[in-house]
Amino acid sequence: MKYFMYCRKSSEGDEKQALSLQSQERELRDYAKENKLEIVKMYSEAKSARIPGKRDQFKAMLEGLDARKADAIICWKTDRLSRNPEEAGKIMQRITDNVIKEIRTPQKSIGTEDANDILMGVEFGSNSQFSKDLSYNTKRGIREKINLGQWPGLAPHFYVNYGLKNKERNIIPDPNIAEYYPKIVDEIVSRKLNVIRALDQLNKWGVKNRYNRSFALSSLHRILRDPIYYGLLRYSEYPEKIGAWEPLISKKKWLLLQDVLDDKSKPIKTRWEYPYNKLVHCARCGLFITGYTKVKKSGKAYSYYSCTKRHGNCGNPPIKLNDMENLVTPFISKIKFKGSILDELKKRTLEKLENEFGHEIAKREEISKSIAQATLKLDKILTMRLDEEITKEQYQQKKDEINSELDNLKEVEIDLRFNRDEIRSQLELYFEKVKGLYDVFTNGDSEDKRKIIYEITDRIELDNKKLRWNFKKPYLALIEVNSCPENINWGGWWDSNPRPLLPQRSALTS
Ligand SMILES: [Zn+2]
Repeated sequence: MKYFMYCRKSSEGDEKQALSLQSQERELRDYAKENKLEIVKMYSEAKSARIPGKRDQFKAMLEGLDARKADAIICWKTDRLSRNPEEAGKIMQRITDNVIKEIRTPQKSIGTEDANDILMGVEFGSNSQFSKDLSYNTKRGIREKINLGQWPGLAPHFYVNYGLKNKERNIIPDPNIAEYYPKIVDEIVSRKLNVIRALDQLNKWGVKNRYNRSFALSSLHRILRDPIYYGLLRYSEYPEKIGAWEPLISKKKWLLLQDVLDDKSKPIKTRWEYPYNKLVHCARCGLFITGYTKVKKSGKAYSYYSCTKRHGNCGNPPIKLNDMENLVTPFISKIKFKGSILDELKKRTLEKLENEFGHEIAKREEISKSIAQATLKLDKILTMRLDEEITKEQYQQKKDEINSELDNLKEVEIDLRFNRDEIRSQLELYFEKVKGLYDVFTNGDSEDKRKIIYEITDRIELDNKKLRWNFKKPYLALIEVNSCPENINWGGWWDSNPRPLLPQRSALTS
């Protein structure tokens, strides 16, 4: 057999324990001499083997092997050949094809039958199955990608595939439309939209899919149910894990979205001819007030709202649509602000936000440290395994432990990052909304009105043609501030989880 000699030491600081290039070369020459091995050429480079495609000497050696200039390799340890699955795969393929008949290290000789040891040099993501299956089938490719936390298939909408080489391919947010994903989720969650309405909204924004067409309803439905958008890698029968791509929303937000999508009782399902349908309760029996239209003998139609009286006649009289409007508008007009008050309010709220997140920054640093430590531990046990200080089983068990710890840490890291951004954007959104509330209400169509009322109220009750009206907490607080601008110094009203609060009897009444 003819041998290529391959020496490598990373120029980066992560391989202090590896022999220098000169030492590797000397040791290997001595070893070859003792064992009467014929070395036809030496390849040597100071490069890291963690990222594929970075090593010219390695590439040249493969070309030499393919040209049958040698049929074996000698190196100090197998991890000199590769520390990434792609290039380890190139070696393994050549072993399988019998282009490489042997890999010799001073510790041992590796032939076709135990080529899996090459993979021991691969630092990340290999598991026991990884090395059980030698054949290069699709399934294997998928498993490799999943081990790396990469999405193995076509990118889902709002993402695009990225990277030229197979094992480096992952998904990144689609630069054209990714920003619309969190936006539409916000709309759905805050306005309780169903999928049809969500699609309308996307179309209004002019958002097109990768084929430059509008989204299909079924496809949007799937998209909104897919956990890939908060970074979960769930693929076929493989165990779930955190993917190595940038999530578009937090897990918390995604779960909230699922709640909203699950709730079949959400009012906005049909076309609303009566904007106050199912928004207003009968104060006497608690049923919803619904609209109906009466056509008079003159041919003129009048719309009314009335208790359905399904629980018997509660005696609550109906009210004309116009009268209802006249009752509602003054409420909405109360939420109108001088720009200066709103700006001051916004400033103080954001300041408060910054203060409260001080401890989260510290926490994030702590997590980053822990991630770095766990990663180091992985390196360490690999070295121990390569030096045969621990058994394959011990290595596997320890590695699984560390990897699951890493997954947990990464999840916490993502949550921390999003928490702050999310609250901030909720606040911004809220202040934007508040600014134009009155204008939108007075000029908008009935659906706009509906949405605004739904947004700002907890419960509205109709009694004897009068409304009792409960604002949601933040709006109520703004109304209080507005009526007494010097008393702006309250705190703690905003809620990171703005769900409808319990009705407050103390709220404004007409
Ligand atoms: Zn009633």
